[in-house]
Amino acid sequence: MTPESKTQGTMLLISGPSGSGKSTICKRLLEDSQVVFSVSATTRTIREGEVHGRDYFFLDKEEFRAKVEAGEFLEWAEVYGNLYGTLREPMENAISEGFVYLVEIDVQGALQLRSLGEPGLYVFIAPPSFEVLEARLRGRGSESEETLKRRLGKAEDEYRERHRYHHVVINDDLEDAIQEVRTIAGLPETGSAKS
Ligand code: 5GP
Repeated sequence: MTPESKTQGTMLLISGPSGSGKSTICKRLLEDSQVVFSVSATTRTIREGEVHGRDYFFLDKEEFRAKVEAGEFLEWAEVYGNLYGTLREPMENAISEGFVYLVEIDVQGALQLRSLGEPGLYVFIAPPSFEVLEARLRGRGSESEETLKRRLGKAEDEYRERHRYHHVVINDDLEDAIQEVRTIAGLPETGSAKS
């Protein structure tokens, strides 16, 4: 894995409401060998199919707290009773080696990094409209009407924060959205990156 043409990499932060398609975009970006994924640490229990070090670094609360004390996190937050955090060291290493360091994070975490002045490209992925967002969330099928309403409300709150990002990418056509993010990150046109 050798990044081409760049000496210094960059953080590429991607966030947006659930249903915006940000995870799909991130998965596709990761097909490029110049892109490295930021693996967060969490205290939540490991789910079936997840791998320690790939999906998350699974820590107990004491280990997590020790890392907080030691200043090892760029940011951390409590989400649904569990702790989650972005580790500083892997990001610094990857950026110094010239990689695009992809941080997929919720809006709360993104704004925390922004207000701390963390350098990088902040990209907000937006759905084409709230009707589309609602249809996408309904399409997942697993949620009650109440949960859906709550998620939609949260998505609207998050959408209001989009001006705090450097770029807003509207995910109407997936391929166009991926290309737009690649251009923002200075990655070559799709096709040349894949073998
Ligand atoms: P899950 O447990 O379903 O994987 O993630 C739950 C929530 O935690 C998601 O909203 C996700 O965005 C958030 N999360 C995951 N990693 C981090 C992190 O490093 N920092 C922050 N602030 N939130 C995170």
